[in-house]
Amino acid sequence: MSDVGGKSVAVLQGGTGIEAEPLEPSQEIMSLWKKVHQSMRGEFGEAIFRSWLKPLVLRAYYHGTMEVSVPTRFMRDWIQNHYAERILAMCSESDSGIKKLQIVVVQNAIIDDEDLDGAKQDVKSVKANQNKKGEVASVSSPLDARFKFESFVVGKPNALAHAAARRVVESMAVPFNPLFLYGGVGLGKTHLMHAIAWQMEEHWPDKTVMYLSAEKFMYQFVRALRANDTMNFKEQFRSVDVLMIDDVQFISGKESTQEEFFHTFNALVDQNKQIIISADKAPSDLAGIDERLRSRLAWGLVADIHPTTYELRLGILQAKRQQLQADVPSSVLEFLALKVTSNIRELEGALNRIVAHSDVAKQEITLESTQEVLQDLLRAHDRRITIDEIQRKVAEHYNLRLSDMHSARRARSVARPRQVAMYLAKQLTARSLPEIGRKFGGRDHTTVMHAVRKIEELMDEDAQIAQDVDVVRRALTG
Ligand code: ADP
Ligand code: MG
Repeated sequence: MSDVGGKSVAVLQGGTGIEAEPLEPSQEIMSLWKKVHQSMRGEFGEAIFRSWLKPLVLRAYYHGTMEVSVPTRFMRDWIQNHYAERILAMCSESDSGIKKLQIVVVQNAIIDDEDLDGAKQDVKSVKANQNKKGEVASVSSPLDARFKFESFVVGKPNALAHAAARRVVESMAVPFNPLFLYGGVGLGKTHLMHAIAWQMEEHWPDKTVMYLSAEKFMYQFVRALRANDTMNFKEQFRSVDVLMIDDVQFISGKESTQEEFFHTFNALVDQNKQIIISADKAPSDLAGIDERLRSRLAWGLVADIHPTTYELRLGILQAKRQQLQADVPSSVLEFLALKVTSNIRELEGALNRIVAHSDVAKQEITLESTQEVLQDLLRAHDRRITIDEIQRKVAEHYNLRLSDMHSARRARSVARPRQVAMYLAKQLTARSLPEIGRKFGGRDHTTVMHAVRKIEELMDEDAQIAQDVDVVRRALTG
C-alpha cells in the first residue's frame, strides 16, 4: 500500500504487481524524509525539484538504507547520476545512521505536494481510510496527483470529452451510462479519468470509486480464477459506485475476460452505478471485442478526443510553463507547438527537457538552445521516419532479409532484431501499437507492447543490445 493524495491505494509494482511489500518506515524516518525532500526544493531549485525530485517517494527503511521510489527507469538513472550523492548527504546530516540511498522503480508511484506538507500525511488517518475502502483500494490503481481538472486545458479537440467528464462529477444522478472516452495515444484520456476520480473524492467522499486499466482488470480476474476466488472478485467490482476502466482495447481477443467484464458492467448499470470507459477507438471499431459488449459500450455517451490543434498545444505549453514557474520565452513555446505535433505527452516531455537542461547548465532558454537540446526529437519530427525505413535499417544492421521483419519465424536470431525494430518504431514514429503490429506481418498490439518492454529491459542488462539500438537509431536520425 502507498498513499497518494491522502488516500490509500495499491501500487502495482513494476507493472506486474508481483513483488514483496517493503517494510514500512517509522514515523521518525518519514518525517526526516519529508524535511529532506523539502530542502531539495530549496537546494536544487523549483524546476529541477518538480521535474526530478518531487516524484521521489519513501518506501522503506532498513539497516541504514533509505529506499525511495521513482516512476521510471530513466528517472532513476538520472537521479542516481546527478542528485543521489547529495540527497544521501542531506539524509545523513539529519541522521548519521543513514548510510545508503536505494532508488527503485515503481510505476505510477507519484505523490502530491500536499502530502509532503504535513497534515494529510497523518499515518493514522491514512490507516483508517485504508480500512474503510480497503477492499476497493487493493484493486484500484493509484491516481496521478497531476491529473486533475485544474490542470486540464480545454480546447476544441477535447471540449466534448471534458464537458462530459464534468457532468459525471457534478450530477446527482448518473447522467449517462457508460461514459465512453476515446482517442489516440497521449491525448488526455487517462488525465480526464483521474480528474473525475479526484473530484468525486472531493464532492462525494462517501462514494467508492474504482479506477484501473483493462490490463489490470484482466490480471485480477485471471488471478481470481487461479485462486478459485471469483466470488470475491465479483463482489469487489460490484460494490463500487463508480467504475473506471482505462484502455479497454486491451481485452480485445480475451474472451473470458470480456465475458466477466460484460457481467460486471451489466450488474453495475442495473444498480444505476456510473461506468466510465476509455479506449483508443470508437466502440464500433474495437476489433476483437464481442458484438454484444461493443453495442453495450455505445449505449451511453460516446465522446472522442481529436488530435491536438496548434492553439491547444500552445495553451497547454503556457499552462505548463506557469506550473513549472520557468522562464521560457513565448517564441520557444510557439516553436514547440509548431514542431511537436504527435501528442501531448511528447509535447510536455520536450518542455520538461529544455527546462531541466537550462537548470543544470545554468543557461537561459532560447530558441537556439531549444533546438540544440531537442535535436534528436526535432529531427525525428522533421524527417518523419517511417516504419519501412526502420525495418530496412534493422535488417541491414543484423544482416537479415527485409521479409524477416514480417515473417512468422521465431528463431531468436530473427525475433530479437524484429523486436528491436518494433521498439524503434514505437520510439521514433507516432504510430500506435496496433498500427505497428500491422506493419510487422499483422501482429497483435500486445506483441508490440511486449517487444518494447523486452528491449527496454535488455538495454539495461545487455550492452550489445543497447549498442545495436543506438547504432540503428543514429543511422535513422542522424
Ligand atoms: P492518454 O491516456 O490519452 O494516452 P494521458 O491522459 O496519459 O493520455 O495524457 C498524456 C499527457 O498529456 C499527460 O501528462 C497529461 O497530463 C497531458 N495532457 C493531456 N491532455 C491534456 C490537456 N488537455 N491539458 C493538459 N495536459 C494534458
Ligand atoms: Mg492512457
